Order: sequence, then structure tokens, then C-alpha cells
Amino acid sequence: MSETADTKPSNFIRYIIDADMASNKHDGRVQTRFPPEPNGYLHIGHAKSICLNFGLALDYNGVCTLRFDDTNPQKEEAEFVEAIKEDVLWLGFGFDDHLYYASGYFEQLYQYAVQLIEQGDAYVCDLSAEETREYRGTLTEPGKDSPYRNRSVEENLDLFKRMQTGEFEDGSRVLRAKIDMASPNINLRDPAIYRIRRDVVHHQTGDAWSIYPMYDYAHCVSDAIEGVTHSVCTLEFEDHRPLYDWFLDTLKTQHHPQQIEFSRLNLQYAITSKRKLTRLVEDALVDGWSDPRMPTISGMRRRGYPAAAIREFCTRIGVTKADNSVEMDILESCIRENLNEKAPRAMAVLNPLKVVITNYPEGQTEQLTAPNHPQDEMMGTREVPFTQTLYIDKADFKEEANNKFKRLVKDKEVRLRNAYVIRCDEVLKDDADEVIELRCSYDPTTLGANPEGRKVKGVIHWVSAEYGLPAEVRLFDRLFNHPHPDTDKEIEDFTAHLNPDSLVTLTRSIVEPSLAEAEGSQVYQFEREGYFCVDSALSSSEKLVFNRTITLRDTWAKAGQK
Ligand code: ATP
Ligand code: MG
Repeated sequence: MSETADTKPSNFIRYIIDADMASNKHDGRVQTRFPPEPNGYLHIGHAKSICLNFGLALDYNGVCTLRFDDTNPQKEEAEFVEAIKEDVLWLGFGFDDHLYYASGYFEQLYQYAVQLIEQGDAYVCDLSAEETREYRGTLTEPGKDSPYRNRSVEENLDLFKRMQTGEFEDGSRVLRAKIDMASPNINLRDPAIYRIRRDVVHHQTGDAWSIYPMYDYAHCVSDAIEGVTHSVCTLEFEDHRPLYDWFLDTLKTQHHPQQIEFSRLNLQYAITSKRKLTRLVEDALVDGWSDPRMPTISGMRRRGYPAAAIREFCTRIGVTKADNSVEMDILESCIRENLNEKAPRAMAVLNPLKVVITNYPEGQTEQLTAPNHPQDEMMGTREVPFTQTLYIDKADFKEEANNKFKRLVKDKEVRLRNAYVIRCDEVLKDDADEVIELRCSYDPTTLGANPEGRKVKGVIHWVSAEYGLPAEVRLFDRLFNHPHPDTDKEIEDFTAHLNPDSLVTLTRSIVEPSLAEAEGSQVYQFEREGYFCVDSALSSSEKLVFNRTITLRDTWAKAGQK
């Protein structure tokens, strides 16, 4: 990436790292990690965490590991592991051989648990789940010691081994840290470290294990094993930090990473909760995790959002500890700015209206030259065929209109983009009084220049009827019509706020022939219509399908947010 540490806005995490580098804490190393749980696809919130963690490693010449937090065997799937790897790479971050699984540390985690037992810092507890809750106390009342708290080291070791060999039923026993049942921080009231899951098959370790470590234990120990220096996570883990430190202090691990919390990204009109995104997918309210309306990385990719624009968005929103809800406009501005500069131009007629140029020779084809970008000559030119019969967009014609309508009006002139000036002489209608065809004449002297003494203001786009390619075009709007579908406490069922018009499909569009070569990752500006890309899942050689990545301007803001 071209950006350097100097050009990036600083933040409180960088200040901490700068100070650590100055004092040579962690021997001057920076190592971060991105630790997704493989129970869903990554979303825009994860993108923030990825850009932060991988970005810090790049800027400080360090390492960022991708670690799957796969300690909960019931909820995780191999499909998600593959999707997550693909998304991180696509966002522009490599993890080379720094790809790890928390499950890869099961043996070391087990040995550390044995160490805790031997030190008298952990015990096997036989309380039922309900009893454990009763003993835990509340925010205002201290908890009570479990009757199993003072088991001997030998008995604990014996029971723990037998938990692993599958002798006991799920839920019958857990291994707990022996900390303080009276701590004001409930996380320190003898939290569970291991639980029994005898019959589940883990996607990495198969049936090798009957016990699985809890997140709070597995996470800090995995960080320490990898030699992470700064363990960056979201704010809800702030109260878990004393536990994070307790495990590592008590185990005296060689490395002791520092946990640092920042506020999670909430994006207006979107959802960044995996549980709720899963519901949208499972209830088929969207077309899978990669539906272009989803705030998932794969959905945004399929929609045509450039990875660089998503990275730019993550830079712009910054990193703080304040709760926030980021406006959709910020993301959309990043997309538009990137595409305005990078997207080649093309012409496509979304709602075609037939135009016959009566004074143009039938059967003649002229290859006109069109620039691929109005400001960037380096992007070159392409040929656009001009013929007697063309299509323009229905919205670009009116029988009568005042001067504000700078498009085609009966008996008036308009310029066809990259081509000639035409005049509308005759309007043909069907029985229902719908305009079905325009008869026009062209002025052969107007290619690339205004006619003598007449200034034609309007310019509209067009496609040759003979050479144009039929296409389906999918127009997207926001998936939700509520700005806070995720976080508004008043909302009972967030699916009630799905926008019913979030997908409109046009089936009779016509695009210029050069788009036959369009590929999934290339976004085009269809002049005057917006940015579009081929839909990688639905498009084929038989049927071209385009997605609208984004409109040219923020029409939503203009409409007063509907
Ligand atoms: P959910 O609660 O929706 O399941 P999660 O936080 O459990 O999400 P993980 O897969 O565990 O999802 O997240 C991996 C990393 O991404 C974590 O470090 C987490 O803090 C970070 N992350 C997840 N959601 C966001 C968000 N909205 N903003 C910033 N970081 C996030
Ligand atoms: Mg999580």
C-alpha cells in the first residue's frame, strides 16, 4: 500500500505503540492479530478491524496474524473459514504463513490448564449451570465459593484428564479458574476455562477433543503463544481485560500482550451483527451472504465496491473509544471518489426508446471514437458503432418541456454523446398513447463540434440497436429504511424495517457492444446513470447481468431520506 505511517491520521492506539517503541517494550516489535470466529462472513465492521490490525503491522514493520477463533465447535463451519481468508486477501492484506487456528493450540492450552491446576489456580467444579448462576452473585452482591473449590490438586488433575477422555457427560463438570468469588468484576468470579462437548466434531480437530476451552482463556493464551504485542479488540471486552491479564500473569507466559479496546463500527442503514446477518441469510430475506445489498465484504465486492475505497473509508472514520454511528454517506463518498477517478466510461440505455434517424443511410455503420475517461487520456479510447436505428432512454424524451429539460424534445435538438446532433421530427405512439418510437434527423456536420451559429446544450447517451447487447440491470437501494436497524432499542424485529424496494430489476436494458468483454471486478460508469459492474454470480455468456454499484450522486439525501 502506498500510504505510510506519516500520511495516516494518528490515533490513541498509535500513541501507545509509539511509546512502547520508544521504551523498547516488547523488544521494539509490533505484532497484532485479526481473530474472527468462523461463524459467518465478514462485514464492514470487520473491515475496520482488519484495516486497523494489518495497517498497524504494515506501518510499524511488524506482523499481523490471521487467527481463527474456532474454540466453539458447534457454531463454526469450514465454508466460513475459506470465505474469511478470501475477504482479507481481497481487502489487500496478506497473511503469508501467519495463518493460525486457536484449535491449533488445543494441546498447549490443555498443558497450560494442567499448569493452572498444579499451581492451585484452577479446579474442576460439579455445580450444574443453574447452581453456578446462583453462586455467581449479582452486580451488587458478591458470589459464593463453590463447594468443589478446595479439591486437591491430585483430584482436580484426575478429573480434568477424565473430562478429556470422554468419561463425563456434557454439562456435568467444568474446569474453573480460582480467582475471587467476591470480586466486583463478575468476570473474575471463578470463570469457566473448559467445558465438555463430548460428541461434537470440530472442523479442524475432528473428534480428538472432548473438552473445549472458553473464549476468555483461549484468546489471551493464543495471543501469548503467537507473541502478539498489542491485542486490539472492541470495547465490550474492556471488563474482560483484568481476566486477560490474570491468566497471563498466573501462567507467567513468555509474552504478555497488551489488550487495547476501541469502539466498534456501527453503520447507518446497515447491520453489523453476525447473528442478525445470519438470520437474513437463513430466512432467505436476501440472496445469501454475498448479496450485493449486504454489508458483508463479499457482498460489497460483488456489488463493485473497490477494496481501496473500503480501506479509505476505514481510514476516514478513525479509531476512538467513543460510541458512534457512521453515516452511510461517508462510505458512499469514498466509493464515488474512487470510481469517478478509476472507472472507464461506457454507454448503456436502461429503459430503451427506439430512435430512427431518417436521413442516415440504412445498413451503414460508422465506428465513432469515444474517450474512456473524460479527464484521463491514459485510459484511451474505444470504438462505438453508430447506425440508423438507436436507443435512447425513455427518461430523456418529452413531447413538450421548458428550457430546464436539457434533453430531447419534439422539434428540438440534442447532442448524442460522442456523436451527432439530432432533431426529433415525429413521435410514434401505440394504442395506449405510449411513445414507442421517435423519427429524428441528424446533422452530419456536428460530429464533435457544435453546428454553426446554434448552441446545443443537452447531451444524452445512446446505443446502436443493431450492435447493442441486451442486458439485465439490477438497481439497489439501502437494505433497511431505518437508520439504526441494529442498535435502536425500540425495535422489536429488525426485519420489519427491510426496505421493500431495495432491489429493482430492469430486464430490457441495452448496453454498448464493448461491454461484452466486461469482467466481474471491473466497474464502469454508465454515463449519466451511475456506476455498474457485471454480477459475478448471475451473468453468463447467454445473459449479461449488471449491478448498479452506486448512483452518480447522493439521491437519497436529496429525497430527504424518504
Ligand atoms: P458478532 O458479535 O457480530 O458476532 P464478533 O465481534 O463476535 O461479531 P468476530 O468474528 O469475533 O465477530 O470478530 C473478529 C474481530 O472483528 C474482533 O476482534 C472484533 O472485535 C472485530 N469486530 C467485529 N465487529 C466489529 C465492528 N462492528 N467494528 C469493529 N470491529 C469489529
Ligand atoms: Mg467474537
